[in-house]
Amino acid sequence: MGRHTESKCRLCRREGMKLMLKGARCESARCSFNRRDYAPGQQAWRRGKFSAYGMQLREKQKLKRYYGVRERQFRRYFAEGVRRKGNTGENLLVLLERRLDNVVTRLGLADSRAQARQLITHGHVEVNGRTVDIPSQAVKAGDVIAPRSRDSSTKLIAAIREGSKGRPMPSWLEVTEEPLQGRVLDLPNREEVPIAIREELIVEFCSR
Ligand code: SF4
Repeated sequence: MGRHTESKCRLCRREGMKLMLKGARCESARCSFNRRDYAPGQQAWRRGKFSAYGMQLREKQKLKRYYGVRERQFRRYFAEGVRRKGNTGENLLVLLERRLDNVVTRLGLADSRAQARQLITHGHVEVNGRTVDIPSQAVKAGDVIAPRSRDSSTKLIAAIREGSKGRPMPSWLEVTEEPLQGRVLDLPNREEVPIAIREELIVEFCSR
């Protein structure tokens, strides 16, 4: 296992949840999170050593790592979550889930959010027929996401898709193979965001 891989997996073990930072590996038996090959009692949160503040902070850090967003950007998502009608925590999760890099990953057009960000910034991805190079762009219902219509992008993303075919597809997205493209059928709701996080703790933290 490379040093880079190990450090990402160590983050999952430290946070006590699968942060899905390694794409296909995370879905496979090679995911080291399940091996529990770390010293028992290593995780302070499991031993009840964290204060309420610590628990809230930990949930926020987990969410930021999962989606790969920095603090300033995260604060913007939170502010937008507050501004929108409904439950702030759910709004926050749905806004993050709608990020183009996340959607490209969920569609199996990238192995991880980090790879999706790279594909997007390098101009390999189109939304509704136009190249988009902003990984944080929010998708809308009806959007069509595809490799850019040039040989190098199509081949690159088709090869990634080949390896991701067994991955579960969220009900709000669909993918077709010929031509290779994904479609946003609807916007997700909280139940369709597959992340074990207590968003109410994050709202408490950010509302201080
Ligand atoms: Fe590593 Fe598993 Fe975490 Fe993926 S989910 S980064 S494979 S520990």
